[in-house]
Amino acid sequence: MALSAVHVSAEVHMLCLSYSLCTEKEETLALLLGTYYEENGKDFANVDRCLILTRKDKRKDRVEISDEQLSNAIEEAEATGTKVVGWSHSHPHITVFPSHVDLNTQRSMQLLDNRFFGLIFSCFNTDSTLAERIQVTCFQAGSDGSRISIPLLIMPRDPFITQQTLTQLVEKLPTTLLREEREAYDRCTSMHHEHDDDDTHAGADEIIAASFHGGLLVRSLALLLDRLISPLVQFCVDRHERNLKEIQTLKESSNEESSC
Ligand SMILES: [Zn+2]
Repeated sequence: MALSAVHVSAEVHMLCLSYSLCTEKEETLALLLGTYYEENGKDFANVDRCLILTRKDKRKDRVEISDEQLSNAIEEAEATGTKVVGWSHSHPHITVFPSHVDLNTQRSMQLLDNRFFGLIFSCFNTDSTLAERIQVTCFQAGSDGSRISIPLLIMPRDPFITQQTLTQLVEKLPTTLLREEREAYDRCTSMHHEHDDDDTHAGADEIIAASFHGGLLVRSLALLLDRLISPLVQFCVDRHERNLKEIQTLKESSNEESSC
């Protein structure tokens, strides 16, 4: 039987959405940690953490959860008394509905637990009025491979953002994206080294290839800096200023009360 509803904390929703908005041309991938519970014979899932995964292949419909990533996530979840309850990925510039590949992935994950579910964030997608829309869907796969839509509830929490999520947002997310770019550069340049070993005239080709991949790396890093790291730094600066103002206001109101 399909899940009756999925409850996602507002901070996990914010983190998944921020991650999805980081890359306009590539899909993003994360695993969701939380718990399942039963109420009146119906199954529900609660999500309170999100693990950002390193992508080996960023092409459309190619983002896959490796066995190693899944096993590491299960280990991490068990250490905190939770489970890996679902996965999340993005659809930049395309509709929110799961593709056949997504439904196949979902069906194979449901073999581990039939309550496992998927989230998709569609972003950078415009409607007929050219307004940009962000949509999210929660789904499972039926036995015939069809899509089953699951109600999704975004739950507010106090505090809105925990230390753990803040660390994921300002540290893990930029580090993962930077590492992916660096690894892609290393893979491409080492491939050229391998090919050129037997070729005595390959020096010029190797230099051109290294320069090309180096240029791509610099471009990717500049985009990351512009679209993610600079806004994050600004967010932290603004938040710090707001905190200082709140502290000042509280001090003033406390002084007024004590002088009455
Ligand atoms: Zn997809």
